[in-house]
Amino acid sequence: TWEHVAQAPPDPIIGVTDAWRADTDPRKLNLGVGAYRTEDGKPFVLQAVREAERQLSADPAENKEYLPISGLPEFCRLSRGLALGPTSVAIQEGRVATVQALSGTGALRVGAEFLSTHLPPAHPRIVYLPNPTWGNHKTIFAKAGFQVREYRYFDPASRGLDFAGMTADLASAPPGSVLLLHACAHNPTGVDPDAEQWGRLLELTREGRLLPFFDMAYQGFASGDVDADAAAVRRFAEAGLELVLAQSFAKNMGLYGERAGALSVVTRSKEVAARVESQLKLVIRPMYSNPPKHGAAIAARVMGDPGLCALWKEELRGMAERIKAMRAALYDALQQRGVAGDWSFVLRQIGMFSFTGLTRPQCEQLVSKWHIHLTLDGRISMAGLSAASAPYLAEAIADVVSS
Ligand code: PMP
Repeated sequence: TWEHVAQAPPDPIIGVTDAWRADTDPRKLNLGVGAYRTEDGKPFVLQAVREAERQLSADPAENKEYLPISGLPEFCRLSRGLALGPTSVAIQEGRVATVQALSGTGALRVGAEFLSTHLPPAHPRIVYLPNPTWGNHKTIFAKAGFQVREYRYFDPASRGLDFAGMTADLASAPPGSVLLLHACAHNPTGVDPDAEQWGRLLELTREGRLLPFFDMAYQGFASGDVDADAAAVRRFAEAGLELVLAQSFAKNMGLYGERAGALSVVTRSKEVAARVESQLKLVIRPMYSNPPKHGAAIAARVMGDPGLCALWKEELRGMAERIKAMRAALYDALQQRGVAGDWSFVLRQIGMFSFTGLTRPQCEQLVSKWHIHLTLDGRISMAGLSAASAPYLAEAIADVVSS
C-alpha cells in the first residue's frame, strides 16, 4: 500500500540540530536552534515556571480533566491582556474572541482555517507574507486554502528594512487581503519597522482595507519588556482596526514543548466576538477536540500571580539582555579581527536571530570546516552563542568571507 510513498525532505531547521548532534568535533556550535540557551549552551527552565509547576502539583483542586474546546478561560483572558495591554478598549468592550491554541503554530493554523471559511465571500483568499519569513507561514496558509503572496521586506544591501518596497507591495494588495505582520523580532531577519514606519503601515492597512494578522512569537524577547514589544499590536487595536493575533509562550516563557499559545480575533462588537468564538470552536473540535492543559495552567499561574509575574518579567529581561550582550560580543570580535564590511547590523537587528547575509557556500564552509551549524540562509541564533564561543564564530566568519 505504501510502496509509492516518496521520502519527504528533512525540515531545514530541525535538520541543523540533527547535524550538530552527529558532529563529534568538540568546538561544534549549534546556531540553528530557535530556542534560548544559557551561557553554558543549556536549555533554560525559568524559575517562575518551576514555581508555578510546584504550586500546581501541590494544589488539590488541580486535576487532569479535559479543558473546554476553547481552552483554559483564565489563560485566554490573561494572554489577550498581556498582548493588548491593561487599558485596551477592545478588551473592556468585550470585543475580543480568544481561544487557547497549540502554541503559536496552532494559533496561526486555526486562525487561517477560520479566515478561509469566514472571511466575507467577496474577499479574496490571499495572504501577504514578508520576504523572507518563518518558513512555516507559507505552508500553514496554503493548507488553509490561501493564495500566498510576498511583500518586500529585507534589504540585503543595508541588511535592514526595504520599507519603500514593502509599502509599494502593500499598496497594490487587493482589498480584503490578509496581511501577516511579525509583531516584533522578525524571524529570520531580526529587522523590525520603527515607530514611524508602523504608523505608515497602519494607514496603509486601513486605506487598503487589509486585515492585519499579527504573529507574536517573541513578546518580551526583543526589548526585554512585554509592553514595549506589544506596541505595534496595541497601536493597531487602539486605532479601532479589526485584527487577528497569534501568541506563543514558547520563547518568552520557555514553554516550547508545552505548546501554550492563544489566538485572538479583535472584532467590532461583543456580539460579533461571541459568534466568532463559537465558530473558532467549530474549527478546533474536529482537529484536536481540546488543547493540552499543563502549559496553559503554568502560563496562567505565572501571569496571574503578581509575585510570579514579576519574577517572570525579570527572567525574561535577563534572557533578552544576554542575547543583546552576545550581539555586542560578536560585533566586537569581528571588529578586532578587522573582518571586511560593515557589521553594525549585528547590533541593530532585534530578537533571537541575526541575518548575516553570508552566502550559501560561506554557510556550508562554516559547517564543514568550522563545525558551526546554521541554516544555509545565513541566519544565526544569537541565543546559541556564549562569551566563549563568540570569538570562535568571528574567527570562522573572518575565514569564510576572505576565502
Ligand atoms: N511564528 C514565528 C515567527 C516563529 O519564529 C515561531 C517559532 N519558531 C512560531 C511562530 C511558532 O512557534 P511555536 O509553535 O513553537 O509557538
